[in-house]
Amino acid sequence: MLLDRRHIIAAAASIALAPCVVAAQTAAPPATGPFRLPPLPYPTNALEPHIDALTMEIHHDRHHGAYVANLNTIAKDHPQIAATPPAQVLATLNQLPEQIRPGVRNNLGGHVNHSMFWRIMSPSGGRPSAELAAAINRDLGGMDKLQSDLNAGGLRVFGSGWTLVTVTRDGKLALETRPNQDSALMDGKRALFGNDVWEHAYYLYYQYRRADYLKAWWNVVNWNELNTRYAAAKAGTLEI
Ligand code: MN
Repeated sequence: MLLDRRHIIAAAASIALAPCVVAAQTAAPPATGPFRLPPLPYPTNALEPHIDALTMEIHHDRHHGAYVANLNTIAKDHPQIAATPPAQVLATLNQLPEQIRPGVRNNLGGHVNHSMFWRIMSPSGGRPSAELAAAINRDLGGMDKLQSDLNAGGLRVFGSGWTLVTVTRDGKLALETRPNQDSALMDGKRALFGNDVWEHAYYLYYQYRRADYLKAWWNVVNWNELNTRYAAAKAGTLEI
């Protein structure tokens, strides 16, 4: 078969490009670099049947891994993003060079959101402390209303984002949603906990049924960790 020059160039380009595209999508985070992917605190299948093992594996290793890898790439030329606490970087994004601002917003936001997310889930999550339960009653209308309102926030997010409970230094709780990987830290706030409503968090198992995912997710909330985070928020030591 004869190929003219145009076809040869096109074929060569597709051969040369294809492995790069695959590598970019599947690359594990570089072993070196200031940012590290925290290990999952439980096996990938620990949250079944509510969140399936393959979703957990891809979500943690690939999605969170990509945010970490991207941060390490940015940090090569801008080491200050790793030398400064994430809460401070995200609260002062406008002080960063313009060309790295969106990358830091998305990838550092994604890194802190997911670092929180893995820890606030568990197969055996305990119960809210008396203090946290009282704050939920006082500020959010009780546990049932918290669950239905946080889930309603998750359904309202158009596209990708988060539905969150924020906590202030004096222990006040509030609900909010954030698009993409935006973090409450961008406004100097702290998230006590929240749910990831990106399709990558649930689509393999729940497909379009985001509402079912939101409802099932309450079975894996790690109340023990939330009690610790609530106490840390009040002590001013909740970093992300
Ligand atoms: Mn996610």
